[in-house]
Amino acid sequence: RRGAIAREFSHLNPEQQKAALTTEGPLLLLAGAGSGKTTVLIHRVANLMKYGRGSDSTEVPEWVTEDDLTFLEEYVRTGAGDKARQERLCALDPAAPWTILAITFTNKAAGELKDRLARMLGPAANDIWASTFHSACVRILRRDIEKLGFASSFTIYDTDDSLRVVKDILKDLGIDDKQFPPRSVLGYISRAKDAMKLADQYLAECERSGDFRLTKIAKIYAEYQRRLWEASALDFDDIIFHTVRLLQQFDEVREFYQRKFRYVLIDEYQDTNNLQYLLASTLAGGYENFCVVGDDDQSIYRFRGATIENILSFEKQYKGCRVIRLEENYRSTKHILEASNAVIRNNQGRKGKELWTKAGEGDKLTLYAAMNENDEAQYVAARILEGYSQGRKWKDHAILYRMNAQSNQIENACKRNGIPYRIIGGTRFFDRAEVKDMVAYLAVLNNPEDDLRLTRIINNPPRGIGAKTIETAQEIARREESSLYAVIDNARMYPELERSAAKLAGFTALMGELAGLLDELPLDQFYEELILRTGYATMLESKNTVEDRTRLENVRELLTSIHGYLENAGEEPSLAGFLDEIALYTDLDSHDPDQDCVVMMTMHSAKGLEFPVVFVVGAEEGIFPGIRAIGETEEMEEERRLCYVAMTRAKEKLYLTCANQRMLFGRTSSNRPSRFVEEIPPEHLERLGRSCLPNLGGGEEGWSGMPSRSSGYGGYGSYQRPTYGGGRSAQAGQGGSRTDRDPRPQPSYGGFVRAMSGAGGGA
Ligand code: ATP
Ligand code: MG
Repeated sequence: RRGAIAREFSHLNPEQQKAALTTEGPLLLLAGAGSGKTTVLIHRVANLMKYGRGSDSTEVPEWVTEDDLTFLEEYVRTGAGDKARQERLCALDPAAPWTILAITFTNKAAGELKDRLARMLGPAANDIWASTFHSACVRILRRDIEKLGFASSFTIYDTDDSLRVVKDILKDLGIDDKQFPPRSVLGYISRAKDAMKLADQYLAECERSGDFRLTKIAKIYAEYQRRLWEASALDFDDIIFHTVRLLQQFDEVREFYQRKFRYVLIDEYQDTNNLQYLLASTLAGGYENFCVVGDDDQSIYRFRGATIENILSFEKQYKGCRVIRLEENYRSTKHILEASNAVIRNNQGRKGKELWTKAGEGDKLTLYAAMNENDEAQYVAARILEGYSQGRKWKDHAILYRMNAQSNQIENACKRNGIPYRIIGGTRFFDRAEVKDMVAYLAVLNNPEDDLRLTRIINNPPRGIGAKTIETAQEIARREESSLYAVIDNARMYPELERSAAKLAGFTALMGELAGLLDELPLDQFYEELILRTGYATMLESKNTVEDRTRLENVRELLTSIHGYLENAGEEPSLAGFLDEIALYTDLDSHDPDQDCVVMMTMHSAKGLEFPVVFVVGAEEGIFPGIRAIGETEEMEEERRLCYVAMTRAKEKLYLTCANQRMLFGRTSSNRPSRFVEEIPPEHLERLGRSCLPNLGGGEEGWSGMPSRSSGYGGYGSYQRPTYGGGRSAQAGQGGSRTDRDPRPQPSYGGFVRAMSGAGGGA
């Protein structure tokens, strides 16, 4: 029977088949880039649903006759015979779709997983829990979060909202935001949550340690959690943190999911942090049919708390687990693959593996050393035009950079050359003020306790409710431990609010009217009413400037997302469901493979994707590897893994570019080519570009004339930090990269809106 099933999966190689057809027990699939890990994961789910345990057992059930066996033998040998009979004989214990939990890191990957499964398995695939960590958790929380004391209509705060709250706290507590930068405070809070520490516990620990600074941060954490609690809001970390708490504290909830999920599968396991590990292993705790897939060489989220340990210690945690390794790469040509292997080999902390490919040599990698960032951008644009004229599609090209800030020049070059492009993760649609305003109205209608959103809209459009009134109402709310909405709804009861009572009543009447409409109308029609009745459209129309017209378009554009949600909502569509969806929507989700345009994104966002032609730009010391990694072994290894991820996205042609001089964050700097480039053996690399680099120091070997790997500037031991024009600007640079690197599934519609607003014409 196994043979007959294997026949169906015969396009996989034997190791891949083994991984796809083993159904029971823990399984670790550890393999390098492009070896088919995600492919195996998808086939594994297909196998579970078609044949289930049947594919894994060698016993022949009693009801199978001699004739059946002869049939199967014949079928395996020749592929001839009745397909339905074969399926009947093989499918002994197929898994129901809702018993399968498959988790990947981005919504896009989850969407792709669903699409591919739907193609293989038909509509039944809709019931598989294929999602990101965050959406799976939101689903679990909506059902049971009341047990933790939260309302099930909780709101999700994105990183910007969280920052706003921290900033408010710093202001209210009179803490200097230079000494305690909000972003860094949030980082501490996030790590405390990853270590499963509630605010009180964290505060007690910090106080005991006597560390003044940490104690202060712990106090901010406590106040932050209090404010989120009052607003019935969860931030991204809370979504996972509270799910884990829920599962740990409530046996019946845990047992429910442990019974439910017979099979748990996780892609990109190398990037899980502690909380995600706890979550996954708890959910898989019932059957322990726990399959994790990953590559220790592609772990690139250490800064967010991801720990390679999760993958490296899997074998220890699950004694007797099966470990399957894949070594054949199906993605890239030899030059690309061997160059990537050579680079990653410089890392010490790795399990070590080598990939090979049957593919041809292909083209050598090309390194272009540009004069400056304009020259670099122009070079990239020229290669893309050349590729297009030779018959490639625009979408065959991807441009990868270390930080979002680098996209600017390239974007301009694309525009100048009429190349259609899309930036993934640039300015986010949902970061636009007008879109945030509309979402805030929806959020308050869904959850009136959402004070943060309420303050955003209460006088927007202007209704004569002044900042002073709002502050007074906030004070009352704090004093009475009630929500802001409850206070303004009863404004007449408070003498301090007497003068504004009529206006406040006008606002709550409007919200009441809208809530009534929400019950009656479908979401899209409701939204159109919302734009009108709030006076928002009128406000923008009356000003009639170009900006305001664009704003109005954006406000209307939100309708597109609502339609998208209504079309695809698996469950009964609701306002809460829509808000969840947009809150968890990431920049990558908008990557629509059918749309023909060049894509630009950070290397982090490119994880798991592949493109025929890839440009890795800004391959310079101080940029990539970033300045903070220089001299720091662990950070450097992480940067090198990122380089490996970036290089292995390419199927046929890989370009690397660096610039002799670069203007970034308003400063000009001269950087040397990245050490990663120097780690590529010369036989795989063709060097082009302006010939010499000044200030190379050491033995000046010709740059364009194939310098040997260790030549040029006397190795990296003596490497001097490139000047960024003083400490402050280096700081600014780091600040920028931090933001850009925050990879959690943040609602980010940059690509989306660009796509909508005619990226086709070069934006
Ligand atoms: P990454 O580490 O980058 O996530 P991966 O290991 O998940 O990569 P996949 O994306 O699954 O790799 O596969 C890489 C490419 O190889 C895909 O284009 C896939 O279709 C192809 N591929 C995988 N297995 C096979 C196979 N057995 N035969 C032919 N092509 C394959
Ligand atoms: Mg993959």
